[in-house]
Amino acid sequence: METQTGTAVQGGSFLIRPSDTTQCFTPEDFKEEQQMIAKMCDDFLEKEVIPKLNELDDKEPGLMQSLLDKAGALGLLGAAFPQEYGGLGEDFVTATLINERLGAGHSFAVAMAAHNGIGSLPILYFGTEAQKQKYIPKLATGEMKGAYALTEPGSGSDALGAKTSAKLSDDGKHYILNGQKIWITNAGFADVFTVFAKIDGDKFTGFIVDRDTPGLSFGEEEHKMGIKGSSTRPLFFENCMVPVENLLGEIGRGHIIAFNILNIGRLKLCAAALGGSKRALAVTTQYAKTREQFKVPIASFGAIQSKLAEMFIRIYTTESALYCTARWIDEKEKALGAEGKRGNETLLGAAEEFAIECAMLKVLGSEALDYVVDEGVQVHGGNGYMDDYDISRSYRDSRINRIFEGTNEINRLLALDMYLKRALKGRINLLTPAMAIQKELTSIPDFGTDDAPFAEEMKLIANFKKAILMCAGAAVQKLTTKIEGEQEVLMYLADMAIDTFQAECALLRAIKMQESGHEHAATTMDAAHVFIADAADRINHSGKNAIYAFAEGDEQRMMLIGLKRFTKTNAFNTKEARRRIAAKLLEKGTYFL
Ligand SMILES: Cc1cc2nc3c(=O)[nH]c(=O)nc-3n(C[C@H](O)[C@H](O)[C@H](O)COP(=O)(O)OP(=O)(O)OC[C@H]3O[C@@H](n4cnc5c(N)ncnc54)[C@H](O)[C@@H]3O)c2cc1C
Repeated sequence: METQTGTAVQGGSFLIRPSDTTQCFTPEDFKEEQQMIAKMCDDFLEKEVIPKLNELDDKEPGLMQSLLDKAGALGLLGAAFPQEYGGLGEDFVTATLINERLGAGHSFAVAMAAHNGIGSLPILYFGTEAQKQKYIPKLATGEMKGAYALTEPGSGSDALGAKTSAKLSDDGKHYILNGQKIWITNAGFADVFTVFAKIDGDKFTGFIVDRDTPGLSFGEEEHKMGIKGSSTRPLFFENCMVPVENLLGEIGRGHIIAFNILNIGRLKLCAAALGGSKRALAVTTQYAKTREQFKVPIASFGAIQSKLAEMFIRIYTTESALYCTARWIDEKEKALGAEGKRGNETLLGAAEEFAIECAMLKVLGSEALDYVVDEGVQVHGGNGYMDDYDISRSYRDSRINRIFEGTNEINRLLALDMYLKRALKGRINLLTPAMAIQKELTSIPDFGTDDAPFAEEMKLIANFKKAILMCAGAAVQKLTTKIEGEQEVLMYLADMAIDTFQAECALLRAIKMQESGHEHAATTMDAAHVFIADAADRINHSGKNAIYAFAEGDEQRMMLIGLKRFTKTNAFNTKEARRRIAAKLLEKGTYFL
């Protein structure tokens, strides 16, 4: 298959495959059309959304809906929907790019993502032809607004513990829903809801519920810490009469809808968080350049430059991991199409293939954003604490991202759980490389040098992977089925994997830029080097704690020696690299890649 990044990549295989720049799609590879769409999103945001952020947060009646309508008129809501349902049929990378660029729109971004992601995709991917024809064209234009209702007072992370019930009416024409959903984004104005309820008490099933369905009512708007402009309300179902033709997918298979949609949602949340991070960095950089203390701009202080550089680095590494994955999903989708798969089997199948990466992206994107806004407030000093300053809103709005679309704890656990299940099923071979590492531990280390370009960096990434496989392999051997109960170990392993995934994507992108003579290659290489140096310490820390948790005596000693070897870096002046990055950032005034 001819693709922009080379051969098709297997989901989750980054731990066992050699680093390869041909498998790394980057924003520098965007086509002209994609750059134009990005510019259109930026313009829309600057002209329509940013000037209205206060009014949005004050919930000015009708404002959010009218902004969604305007985005719909530009084709931004249905960009990724197929053309036969009124969309533009753009590929997944382009859809991700739109989510990223509009992600800087605070509450608007949340409303939009809920609308065209979890609010529309269940119907697009699991609806019957009649359901798709009825809803998707209107969702694509924004004529209808969508929402997704899964969470209940007693079931959040444990989504399948939902109590909302559904019962077929005596005449067989309706499902009668009773129960409650909470914290439903867009509930204040959405026309259509994907709702999950249990038929006859145990068959977890999806339903399409129109706003005016008899028996559906809404509670008051929640008063939230942030994203105040986003509508968040409870839904009450009291003998709510949902026509049988609104059953979504198959009876008892609602979990397939809920979980598959969330894979895509998680990647898109990362994209939106990235957009928010870039805006927060731009605002903070401008502030640092203009705010003077001790008769000089605070941007001249090393302590501030170091923060700005670290913000840049986290954005750069997030962006690198995000677009690599988005392209892999595109490629897999095409491959599945070529195999004869149709409809929901292509994109959902592709997203499932990269579900591990999607879970990791959700975690790393939301945590990068939290870091960026937190340090952004710090750079603003007391002003950062004042509502008048943009960064204050960014700080409040950021926090939710670690909670919804699966908390970051759940996503860390999920990523590891999927690895273990895939390994057990033979879908991914972790055993052979893990055994090879055990053998390597007892042999004499290879002190040879490799003069190939970037060989040292590539070796480090390969060593990080060895560190994970060594720890994960031993943990599984030692703890066997008890490993699920040792969440702390799983968290350490997940952190090691997330750091490695990001480090690899960041490095491969920097190498590609270097090889193509890109004007910012030196800056991205600095960013990759600093990230790798810090990641080595973090991986060492997590690995050590994991090893202490399950190994003792000689085994523990041997693994600690291995871990030290696998996370050993050469001396690198991170302070100077951060200063160089900050200098470039201050010159450009914004994230400039
Ligand atoms: C502003 C906002 C908008 C939202 N929008 C929507 C929406 O549109 N539609 C919708 O359906 N839902 C929505 N939600 C709900 C959201 O998805 C849930 O809040 C989220 O899934 C977490 O569930 P919970 O709040 O019940 O937390 P809980 O599940 O009670 O979790 C509490 C803590 O325990 C941890 N925890 C839970 N289970 C485990 C475990 N097995 N192992 C380790 N740790 C665990 C969690 O990580 C968390 O730290 C929204 C929530 C908010 C706040």
